[in-house]
Amino acid sequence: MQCQGCRFWFSSKTQCRRNAPLPAVSEKGSQTLWPTTAADDWCGEFQPKVTDEKAAA
Ligand code: SF4
Repeated sequence: MQCQGCRFWFSSKTQCRRNAPLPAVSEKGSQTLWPTTAADDWCGEFQPKVTDEKAAA
């Protein structure tokens, strides 16, 4: 039960995409950000990745 095995983890950017990105304001202006997490982080919203076999069933 870790982010690396979660369906919401966008691994190439280590982002959790469980929810919509949040607005952030800095001296560079405003932007939207998804939270970044480590591969071995986790939270109570974890859902396992769906494999092709499961998706086809
Ligand atoms: S376990 Fe939680 S924090 Fe990690 S990717 Fe999944 S939903 Fe996001």
